[in-house]
Amino acid sequence: MSDAVQKELEVDIMHNLKTVLSRIELAVSRRSKDLPNIAPKLIAVSKIKPVPMIIEAYKAGQRHFGENYVNELSEKANDPQILDQCKEIKWHFIGHLQTNKINKLLQSPNLYIVETVDSEKLADNVNKQWEKFRNSDSRLNVMVQVNTSAEEAKNGCDPSETTTIVKHVLEKCQNLNFKGLMTIGQYDYDVSKGPNPDFILLAKCRNEICTKLNLDINTVELSMGMSTDYEHAIELGATTVRVGSTIFGARPPKNAQINNS
Ligand SMILES: *Cc1c(COP(=O)(O)O)cnc(C)c1O
Repeated sequence: MSDAVQKELEVDIMHNLKTVLSRIELAVSRRSKDLPNIAPKLIAVSKIKPVPMIIEAYKAGQRHFGENYVNELSEKANDPQILDQCKEIKWHFIGHLQTNKINKLLQSPNLYIVETVDSEKLADNVNKQWEKFRNSDSRLNVMVQVNTSAEEAKNGCDPSETTTIVKHVLEKCQNLNFKGLMTIGQYDYDVSKGPNPDFILLAKCRNEICTKLNLDINTVELSMGMSTDYEHAIELGATTVRVGSTIFGARPPKNAQINNS
């Protein structure tokens, strides 16, 4: 076993999961009562982390896992040990989806949701391809990703386009099941400046689509918040939080990671 893998296995995943789950509960109790009372879902973001750590988290009760590269999700989802020991695993794709990777992603066993649909074109492509890969007539869950921080490098639709794209998914993509909105937002936002504007904006986009498209707000999820700010995100309405390093330990700095998208 390599030193890196050995070191990673020293991370106490069960303890970390328990801590995060209890903090989620506390954050829910602080959530404004005007917000829909949807119990938050924890996504364990396992990118760069090895299969044994995923299995350990699964054995500790975790079911939802997130990956942001298609190749890595596909490899892990097809791993014989995962297929054998993690039968109820639910994979969330949370990275940028290139057209030429759609088929590979949709063939991944136990794919639960694609959180990063950000254009009508991508929605149409995924909708069309899902027909080939689904079992029976199941619909594929999707979220629409919104670029709430107006950063050019970030993916996601412009907030002003949200209603149009969601309407398109609802009316034109019969193989897709619209679940909610997702944002990444700016990193390292300083909460002492007040509520995170990205989270406020995503909640506002939800209000808007619910009003304009006549949707029940209690059924529309908000995926926002990561290791540094998931509690804050829940207070502002997150129903899905994506937590990686707090559960699995720190990742190597970005420029040291292999780009395997
Ligand atoms: C990596 C990643 C996360 C988790 O980040 P942590 O800071 O490790 O919790 C959440 N969402 C997305 C889209 C990511 O790529």
